[in-house]
Amino acid sequence: MIYLKTEEEIELIRESSLLVGKTLAEVAKLIEPGVDPLKLDRVAEEFIRDHGGVPGFKGYNDFPNTLCTSVNSQVVHGIPNSKALKNGDIISVDCGVVMNGFYGDVAYTFEVGEVSEEIHQLLETTKACLQKGIEAAKAGNRIGDIGFAIQSLAEENGYGVVRELVGHGLGKNLHEGPEVPNYGRRGTGMKLKEGLVIAIEPMINLGKKNVKQDADGWTIVTADGLVSAHFEHDIVIRKDKAEVLSTHEYVEEVLNKKKNK
Ligand code: MG
Ligand code: MG
Repeated sequence: MIYLKTEEEIELIRESSLLVGKTLAEVAKLIEPGVDPLKLDRVAEEFIRDHGGVPGFKGYNDFPNTLCTSVNSQVVHGIPNSKALKNGDIISVDCGVVMNGFYGDVAYTFEVGEVSEEIHQLLETTKACLQKGIEAAKAGNRIGDIGFAIQSLAEENGYGVVRELVGHGLGKNLHEGPEVPNYGRRGTGMKLKEGLVIAIEPMINLGKKNVKQDADGWTIVTADGLVSAHFEHDIVIRKDKAEVLSTHEYVEEVLNKKKNK
């Protein structure tokens, strides 16, 4: 189902999204070689509960944890484990919160220690793809315009765009209509209306677009074994532009502080 939100509902989604952004900043403080994803998961769950939220993923379709932690060739839906992160790894951390009946859903891909220039560029481009998608998400445009913007930038850079997993509407449910693919044709698909809240979340592969599911029944991995990046924001469609409800600012403050140490 597709629901257009009232301003009151949009504010509640914003609050949940901001709590996710702050949670990811707590995670950012801990990411370094030697830390394991389960530790990140514990810290995130405690932080969310301390701030009046409930982890949005835990128990969702029986997902066992607060975070999805997807390392290197894992694209999304990785289950946190006790395997220590290594220098040069990347880890996508995807987190959901439900608070006052509304969800926030935000993801960020982190560098662990020093990564190769090739991988750094993939992360930068995936972030730029998210920005392009957001710029295309305004009233009167169509769903296909968002995907077209994301796909064009990714493929210009020689990357693969994951087809099987997509962005989505967001509100009282973690996943609502419409689906928001990261690929598409201009001027196609549902027309975007003011008050529609969607999560835009490009998943961009260093190599080919193909993915497969791991034996754990959750984790999606690239078919060619090359790394994949994932960034996600929650936005509301407004008249002339999208308004971003979530933020990566708290995360980036932490990362900048770590860099300047
Ligand atoms: Mg997410
Ligand atoms: Mg999502």
